Amino acid sequence: MKNREGISPLTAIIYTESRISLDSLHNPKNHSFLVEEIRKKVATLERKKWSIQISWVKIHAGTRDNEVADRLAKQAARSGGTEYEFARIPKSTIYQEAREESRQKWQREWATIQKAAATRQYFPTIQDRLRTKMKLTPKITAVLTGHGMTKAYLHRFHLSEDAKCRCGNEYQFMDHILFHCEELNAQRELLKQQMGTWPASKEDLITKHKKEFYEYIESIEYDKLNV
Ligand SMILES: [Zn+2]
Repeated sequence: MKNREGISPLTAIIYTESRISLDSLHNPKNHSFLVEEIRKKVATLERKKWSIQISWVKIHAGTRDNEVADRLAKQAARSGGTEYEFARIPKSTIYQEAREESRQKWQREWATIQKAAATRQYFPTIQDRLRTKMKLTPKITAVLTGHGMTKAYLHRFHLSEDAKCRCGNEYQFMDHILFHCEELNAQRELLKQQMGTWPASKEDLITKHKKEFYEYIESIEYDKLNV
C-alpha cells in the first residue's frame, strides 16, 4: 500500500551523516556488534511490514540543527529520495568524506587516549605524523612511544629489579636517556653540534632534525645502559 507521494505509510527513512556507518551496514563482511544490532532491528521491523531505508546525508560543520532538520524533512517527504540522493553524489566525494571522517576520528582518539601521551609530544596532531615519513626501527619506536627498552619500562613489567639508570640517581625513563643521562654525553654533544641549536622541542627533533636525531637514537646501546 502506498500513499499519495508513493511512499508506503510504514516507511522509516533514517539519515546519517556518517558515510562509514552506512558502508559498514552494507558490507556483508562487517559483523561488528552495533552493525549486527542495527541489522537485527531492521529485520524485525521488516517482518512487521515496515520499510526501512538508511541514507547518507552530507552535513557541513557549523550547519545549524534546525537547517538540518528542515532539509531532512524535505528529503524524507520526497518520493524515492534516498536513491536519488545517492546517485547525485560523485564517488570521489564519498571517498573523500570517508577519508576525512576517519582522519577526524583518528585525531579525536589520538588527542584523548592517554597511552599516546609520549607519541603526542613528538607529533601533536595526526597531520604531523602523516607528514613525517619514517622508517620505524625498534629503537625509534621505543623513543616515540615510550614503551620498551628503558629500565623504568622493564621494571614496570617486572623484567628488571629496579628502574634506576646506570649513571646513578635518576630513574631510567626515556627522557632521562635522551636528554639527561651522563652516559650519553658524548653522543648528545655530537647531536647538538650537528643540529647547531639546543635545546630543541621534540616536535623539532622529529621534523627539522630527523636525520641527526635518528642517528642519535640508533647510537643508544641499551644493553650497556641497563647493566
Ligand atoms: Zn642515566
